[in-house]
Amino acid sequence: METLLLSEKQLEIAVQLIKGGEVVGIPTETVYGLGADASDENAVRKIFSAKGRPADNPLIVHLADFSDAEKYTSYIPELAFKLADKFCPGPFTMVLPKNDNIPLVTSGGLDTVGIRIPSHPIMHRLIELSERPIAAPSANISGYPSPTSAQHVMRDMNGKISAVVDGGKSHFGVESTVVSIENDNTVRILRPGCVTKEMILEVCDVIVDKAVISGLESNEKASSPGMKYKHYSPCADIVMIESDLNSFIEYVGNHYGDNVYALIFDGDEKNFPYRYMTYGKDSNEQAHLLFQRLREFDDIHAEKVYVRTPSPDGVGLAVYNRLIRAAGFEVIRI
Ligand code: AMP
Ligand code: MG
Repeated sequence: METLLLSEKQLEIAVQLIKGGEVVGIPTETVYGLGADASDENAVRKIFSAKGRPADNPLIVHLADFSDAEKYTSYIPELAFKLADKFCPGPFTMVLPKNDNIPLVTSGGLDTVGIRIPSHPIMHRLIELSERPIAAPSANISGYPSPTSAQHVMRDMNGKISAVVDGGKSHFGVESTVVSIENDNTVRILRPGCVTKEMILEVCDVIVDKAVISGLESNEKASSPGMKYKHYSPCADIVMIESDLNSFIEYVGNHYGDNVYALIFDGDEKNFPYRYMTYGKDSNEQAHLLFQRLREFDDIHAEKVYVRTPSPDGVGLAVYNRLIRAAGFEVIRI
């Protein structure tokens, strides 16, 4: 199959492909998604197969407006409406009880479904014009860093899907915040994103699931199936280091060699003595650039990358979560 690279002006082609049960790479404000009709089991199976995604890892369903959520859910708690008022459209997913309009293939066998209302104008128009709920996981090969440009999607999916719509670089650069509703006034963060814990605290209480910053024990049940799987890892070995700049430089120096690199903050590079890339000066920039940099390290055949680690608050929690999973949950604290 030849994968078409479409411009925004060719969106109608993408709409027809979606309506015909095909899979299309689509820009969203978080990362690029692999979109297909969430109510069509065969279309959804094509997503799982293109990604090599485990069948029990559910897909988020994207809708044009939160008022459409009742078509796909059996119950919407009051707190979900309050959160939707504040964070939809945007990089925010709520796990709600599903109804029969969402097949079990889409929900990975669960009786719940993640609902998101994306704000990206291309994604929004695609949902409206196709008149379908759109299942759209990140458009990477399962386990690899998420794509933040149409070229990243082409690299992972060329020949496996019908088309990719090029909408430029993703704005946020990390996937949506995923929450489940714990009770009338509490949510649990299953995956941190650019809607932060601090922002949600303005609406209700927040529990951050333990698996967000530490690995699951071997006998522990995941609150979200995605927590079980290796993710965000480039071919290079990622090593997270929590320390000040001087200790970081010393550590890298003691472990330096061929194909060893550092990923450092903007501002660290003055007199930095080893091969490096930078990934921004604050958490928003780091979120925006992280996956792009991880892919660039593979382009230059890096074997080991020592990473300066942001503090896990605000958007930093999302960056920290992606890094710790890319690093296999090991952090070196100096
Ligand atoms: P991705 O599709 O790559 O953006 O990943 C979606 C993430 O949301 C995965 O970690 C899923 O496990 C999680 N997720 C999606 N739907 C649900 C659900 N119904 N319950 C719990 N987690 C979910
Ligand atoms: Mg993903």
